[in-house]
This record gives sequence, C-alpha cells and structure tokens, in this order.
Amino acid sequence: MARPTFPKTLREFQEHFAEEPACLNYLWESRWPEGFQCPQCSWKKAWPIEGRRVWECQGCSLQISPTAGTLLHRSHFPLREWFWGAYLVATHTPGLSATQLQRQMGCSYKTAWFLLQRLRRAMVHEGRSPLAGRIEADEVIIGGPVRGKTGRGVTKAEHSTLVFGAVEVRACQDKHGDHLERAGRLRLALTERADAVSIRSFLTRNVQPGSVINTDGWKGYSKTALAGFRHELHGPETHALHIHRAFGNLKTWLNGTHHGVHPKYLQHYLDEFVFRFNRRNTPMAAFQTLLGLASQRNHVPLKSMVAPESTG
Ligand SMILES: [Zn+2]
Repeated sequence: MARPTFPKTLREFQEHFAEEPACLNYLWESRWPEGFQCPQCSWKKAWPIEGRRVWECQGCSLQISPTAGTLLHRSHFPLREWFWGAYLVATHTPGLSATQLQRQMGCSYKTAWFLLQRLRRAMVHEGRSPLAGRIEADEVIIGGPVRGKTGRGVTKAEHSTLVFGAVEVRACQDKHGDHLERAGRLRLALTERADAVSIRSFLTRNVQPGSVINTDGWKGYSKTALAGFRHELHGPETHALHIHRAFGNLKTWLNGTHHGVHPKYLQHYLDEFVFRFNRRNTPMAAFQTLLGLASQRNHVPLKSMVAPESTG
C-alpha cells in the first residue's frame, strides 16, 4: 500500500510538522493512500476547509474529517503535539513509559497515559501475515519467582505469567560475504499452560503451515501439536539463540522501561514489544503504521480506558 513520504531525521520531522496544516495534510494522505474517494458519491476530489480539520467533497459537499476514527479525533490538543508523541513512541527504541512521555511532551500524566494506551492498541495488526520459513519457538515465564516450579505450564507464583514466543530465523550475509543468521519477525502470546493443545493453538494462529519449527525437547511439542509443520529439535549446544535473545530483551524492557507489568496488562505490552521488535530497523515506518492503522480503528471512548494509579 502506498504511503505518504515521511521525514527521515528528527530535525526534518520537527521542521515538517511544525504547523497544524502539515499534520492535517499528512493525516489526509495517510487516510487515502491511493487518493481520495468520497464514501458517499465516489467523487475523487475534495478541498480543505480553512480553519477546520475538515475537507469538503467537490461532488456532493460531504464534509470529511481526516481525524475521524483516529486517535486524534475530537482532541483539543494541537495535532503537532500528538504527532510528536507518536513520533517519540515510534522511534524511541526501548519505548516510553507514560511518565517519560509526560515529561517529554509537557502534558498531564493522564493525557500521556491515554495517548500511550491508544498507540498500543494501534500496534496490533489484525491482518498481519503468519511467520514463515525457519522458526524458533519456546516459552518464558515473565515476572514472579521461578523457584518452586515443578514443570512447564505451571505458574504458581503470584504475578508470574507464561508467554509463548516464536521468531523467524533468516539467513543473511555480513559485509565480508560470510553466512549469518538474524532474527526476522516475532510473535508473543500469553498462555495458561505449555501443553500440546496450547502450543498447537499458538502455532496455528501465528505460523504458516509447512514451516520448520525449532524447539527443545519439551513434551508439549508433540506430533499432534506440530502436525502440518516440520519439527527440528535443538540440542544443548545449538540452543535457540534468537528466541532466547528476544525473551531476554523483553524482560529487560519490561523491567527497565515499565518497572514490571501486572499480568492483566501484559498482553498489551507484549503487543508493543512485538511491534517494536518487528520494526526495529524502520522506526519511521513504525510511525506511519501507527497512524495508518489507527485511522482504521474505531474511536475508543475515554470512559472505557480509565488510567490505573500506577501503570507506567
Ligand atoms: Zn461526495
């Protein structure tokens, strides 16, 4: 899908989006990446109405707001402030807590928290394509002590949560032409247990049939769980480097940026981590994705998202 061009540096960003009309134009172009078409009369031309965040169709005079259905709609905050917030969230590699965003933007904690929640919702791409090729899969326990654990799938400790992960392993070459492996796209999901049924469900939701799934010898990775996939076992010496590195980064991120997360909110944070991980080399595209996706999502009323007292 064609998207409007985007400034490549911070300085360019600030200059480009210094004024409201530039932000509005960008939203308009993001909303109609293949050109405007009136939803009422199919006419392809509209003009902006000065002083309002509205365009008017030249065919039927329908007034269309490029912010409708986006996270910016009915906000009295200047658009450039929202853009700045989204830019910080999209390009700040480790991600931002509401407190950090509040400080950077000079807004209230409630506004920062609200903006972050909205951007996180925009990070879930429902139509995304499944992982393919060679995949490393494993589980990790997030939060709480691991001590006393008697088997996988048993998370007795309070506030500890079991998470499935799968990551693509892609072959590439370094600058000397030597063959290397690097991590491709990632998926993470909360699970109650690591039994064959849960593993099957996670894999079929996230991985294309026929892919090679590399795992350890955990019995949950049974023939039934892996039906339709090719199974590859790794030994202690060739352990799953890429998924373990992703788990390590996830834990560091959760503890460092967010100082731990309650299990109730964890899936949202997993979505954000996956979003950042999968776009780690294209932060500018992340910003575009946030706006593009957000514009297709329904408006979420403030009432349904009341800020908890201490979620960073
Ligand atoms: Zn029209």
